[in-house]
Amino acid sequence: MAQMASTATQMIPEAAALARRLARETQGEVLFDAASRGRYATDASIYQIMPVGVFVPKTASDVAIAIDIARDLRVSLLPRGGGSSQCGQTTGAALVIDTSKHLRKVLDFDADAMTVDVEPGIVLDALNAWLKPRGLWYPVDVSTSAQATLGGMAGNNSCGSRSIAYGNMVHNVAGIDAWLADGRLLSFGPLAGLGAAEREIADFVRGLADQQRDEIQARWPKVMRRVAGYSLDIFHPQSERPYTADGSVNLAHLLVGAEGTLAFTRSLKLNLSPLPRAKVLGVVNFASFHAAMDAAQHIVTLDPSAVELVDRTMIELSRANPAFRPTIDAALIGTPEAILLVEFSGDDKAALLRQLRALVALMADVLHLPGSVVEMIDDAPQKALWEVRKAGLNIMMSLKGDGKPVSFIEDCAVPLQHLAEYTDALTEVFARHGTRGTWYAHASVGTLHVRPILDMRRDGAHKMRAIADEAAVLVRRFKGAYSGEHGDGLCRGEWIEWQFGPNINLAFRAIKGKLDPGNLMNPGKIIDPPKMDDASLFRFAPGYQTIALTPVFDWSAWNVQNDPKTETTSAPGSGLDPTGGLAKAVEMCNNNGHCRKFDAGTMCPSYRVTRDEQHLTRGRANTLRLALSGQLGPDALTGDAVQEALDLCVGCKGCRRDCPTGVDMAKMKLEVLAQRRLRHGVSLKNRLLAHLPAYAALASRVPWLANLRNRLPLARQLSQRWLGLSAARSLPRFRRDTFWRGAASLQLATRAEVLEANRPVVLFVDTFNGHLDSENAVAAVRVLQAAGYAVHAARGARDETLCCGRTYLAAGMAAEAKARARQLIAALLPLAERGIPIVGLEPSCLLTLRDEMLTMGLGADAHTVAAQALLFEEFLAREAKAGRFHPPLRTARQPMLVHGHCHQKAFGAMTPVLDVLRLIPGAAPTLIESSCCGMAGSFGYEAAHHAVSMQMAELALLPAVRAAPGALIVADGTSCRHQIADGTGREAMHVARVLADHLVA
Ligand SMILES: Cc1cc2nc3c(=O)[nH]c(=O)nc-3n(C[C@H](O)[C@H](O)[C@H](O)COP(=O)(O)OP(=O)(O)OC[C@H]3O[C@@H](n4cnc5c(N)ncnc54)[C@H](O)[C@@H]3O)c2cc1C
Ligand code: SF4
Ligand code: SF4
Repeated sequence: MAQMASTATQMIPEAAALARRLARETQGEVLFDAASRGRYATDASIYQIMPVGVFVPKTASDVAIAIDIARDLRVSLLPRGGGSSQCGQTTGAALVIDTSKHLRKVLDFDADAMTVDVEPGIVLDALNAWLKPRGLWYPVDVSTSAQATLGGMAGNNSCGSRSIAYGNMVHNVAGIDAWLADGRLLSFGPLAGLGAAEREIADFVRGLADQQRDEIQARWPKVMRRVAGYSLDIFHPQSERPYTADGSVNLAHLLVGAEGTLAFTRSLKLNLSPLPRAKVLGVVNFASFHAAMDAAQHIVTLDPSAVELVDRTMIELSRANPAFRPTIDAALIGTPEAILLVEFSGDDKAALLRQLRALVALMADVLHLPGSVVEMIDDAPQKALWEVRKAGLNIMMSLKGDGKPVSFIEDCAVPLQHLAEYTDALTEVFARHGTRGTWYAHASVGTLHVRPILDMRRDGAHKMRAIADEAAVLVRRFKGAYSGEHGDGLCRGEWIEWQFGPNINLAFRAIKGKLDPGNLMNPGKIIDPPKMDDASLFRFAPGYQTIALTPVFDWSAWNVQNDPKTETTSAPGSGLDPTGGLAKAVEMCNNNGHCRKFDAGTMCPSYRVTRDEQHLTRGRANTLRLALSGQLGPDALTGDAVQEALDLCVGCKGCRRDCPTGVDMAKMKLEVLAQRRLRHGVSLKNRLLAHLPAYAALASRVPWLANLRNRLPLARQLSQRWLGLSAARSLPRFRRDTFWRGAASLQLATRAEVLEANRPVVLFVDTFNGHLDSENAVAAVRVLQAAGYAVHAARGARDETLCCGRTYLAAGMAAEAKARARQLIAALLPLAERGIPIVGLEPSCLLTLRDEMLTMGLGADAHTVAAQALLFEEFLAREAKAGRFHPPLRTARQPMLVHGHCHQKAFGAMTPVLDVLRLIPGAAPTLIESSCCGMAGSFGYEAAHHAVSMQMAELALLPAVRAAPGALIVADGTSCRHQIADGTGREAMHVARVLADHLVA
């Protein structure tokens, strides 16, 4: 079946029968609705093709059955892992089969042979975490190690930063069991052990290779980084690094790099390597980019495990980030135009140090660059520097506007002796086409990543073609490989024949015909590919346009265009986006899949629990993009598909911080909720939750009545049935002794007094701490007063208590939220104008002042207030640093375990919590590596979300609390403390209370 662009709402006639049979005959998930198909229509490339349907198999036999059904109905198949490919190989008008959710087991492990057998959907980081205690690792360390599956890595013949030491996938795969499209499950492995069917294939391929021997010799790139076409050269090896240690032939290597076009991998046998015990890093500084490129060929003779480039632009981008500046500065000597990170790794640190000294000598004596190497011996600075390199790339990808760094010639590989000439020439090509590229990555193997900035909605396709043509001439001149890392897919398929010539291309076609005669496996990739610039296959295809919409929030910062040469952006609001910038903010998601991660960090808690593309930041952004561009039908933004995709988004803002391009789904969800409310109104439950700030004071007068729902089982059941509030949860408990009722006894400063005070502080006492967990606010006052501050608890003009409006925002009640925000700003403005710090206790409330309130159209006043708004711990940490906060504190008697509220993490506000706790003598607080607690405001209280909420908490937080029975648990978020209490029966404390309890009376 040929590639075709279709919209998500169109279906091919076979689709219904296919869906019916899959549902009936397998245990897997059958996703054929428009939004699901749309979420699987893209990978990390510029392309978009609607699949026929999506199938998420539960078991391997589900896959076998699905292949049989698809063959019966003559529907193509597209195997998929993390979908992080950059060339469009994971997009297609086929039945997409996603192995990443369920097929991720380690099947077998042989410590002596150092091999492991795995299912295709296991992610590299997960595998390496499993191998680490065994002293081994799988060393093809792709940058996407947190989301790339082994099936996808084999599909693409992926290559890691350390390929110079370990090779690519093809060098590290020992065997593959795979189904052919005809349903046969074959074992591809060393020639000597093949069964009859496999041997027949091997003989066929050998015959082709023998016929093409001279052509292979003449045309095959000799560099290690050749990933294009099929590995016909297994029989006549051309790579500078042999595919097997003993030079024997392994038929599995024919499938490595085949991009799912020949067979569907059921399992892989992988060769493992010992985990290196030590690493040292030499950072070589160069005064010119050319010199860095020229030096690479000499540096590799020292046997490094990595040589990675960071150019001037990347250096500057990194230095612009205050968090990274000290790290990158420590690696620099003066202002270099480029640096090379040269790593040596192994078991013997002394030997590594000798290699490092050899590097220093090489630079001084041979290349005449004495004093150019910064030596990093310890692990911590090395790790920090590798992080900076990654972050630099992320900043580059976060360019706002329609021009984006586009990946299509980003991994041409040239022999090292030509690297300098090649990069110089390509830089000139970019300039001729009115753009430029930032260079980075694998200098060791001549594969430098570079992405020129192109506007794929306007003249991008034209420029892409012109640049690709000129790059190809250079690659040929330097005898390189056009496709050196990321595969062929849609953007490089047409270059296969250019690279290998018509005869070898015919041999490739014959291989395809032998293994997949019906052309069912990922058609249009490698064989019969479309033109790279076929714009009908683009994500932003001709005619792409968004609906007109008046957003509730201010998205104008995204509504800009950029200059590809200078990367400067036009004024906010000038980008001609009919949605006021919302669509452009959504389109910042480039599908790189970074949100599919399970490591430290917050993003994305709902995906961590469900492993569903729908419940992933990327899936949500794609759903919104499709809805905003009319691809899900009319009114889709306020329709069910968007609602379902956003349902489990807990608004944790993890993506705001962790997403490389800054996709802020929490804010997008608020916008959608507000738009939905305008169309559909607000439910009774949401009204009840939203208006808490309005009735909290009243409820605290009659707490026995307000708390009845918690005490009476029947009331719990009824509140679940009528309001959707989980009967398994107790709601926050109202009390008479609120902060506000006891305020008179706290010696608070009046507004007039605080304006005159020497050391003034305004406490923003939010609804939760003012009426519910009031001991926190009391504790905060005690701590601040003990340190000599005059504390004023702010109230409104009519003496009303203040609120940030968050509960209204979460219910889509934007107008009410704005009214509350206006009231709050009016009360705080005169104090903020005098430079008085405004200190808050509840992270989500205080940080609303610094985030959402700035996009509510409240003008400069909101910015003035935001500039003074600090969390309690931020304020104290700042004061302590300045020597102004040193109250007498007694020694800590317990270990302390700290859980960060998601919004604290998103705003980088966890370090102050730890800093402040460390002011307590003897305290050594430990941060729990947790994502969201799962409560997220009202989310965890809702019956529909209770199970997911508990699963989120059980991922890391609750087990960590249970594992530390004697520890003091510190958590600043009201709902986090509630979750900890519900899940473990332990009381967690706000940092203010911890400090107050340690005050020497
Ligand atoms: C920011 C970024 C950085 C990257 N860095 C690197 C890097 O350092 N090195 C590198 O090599 N690549 C890199 N890539 C590209 C990509 O991440 C890798 O190629 C990765 O290995 C793909 O894994 P995946 O699970 O996402 O595969 P997918 O994209 O899901 O699939 C890749 C191919 O394999 C096929 N496939 C998947 N599963 C199977 C199966 N079971 N049977 C048969 N075929 C199958 C698919 O059909 C597809 O053709 C990067 C991409 C991004 C976005
Ligand atoms: S949401 Fe961010 S992290 Fe996730 S795929 Fe999109 S750009 Fe990448
Ligand atoms: S706000 Fe949190 S839950 Fe929502 S998409 Fe972002 S990381 Fe995921």
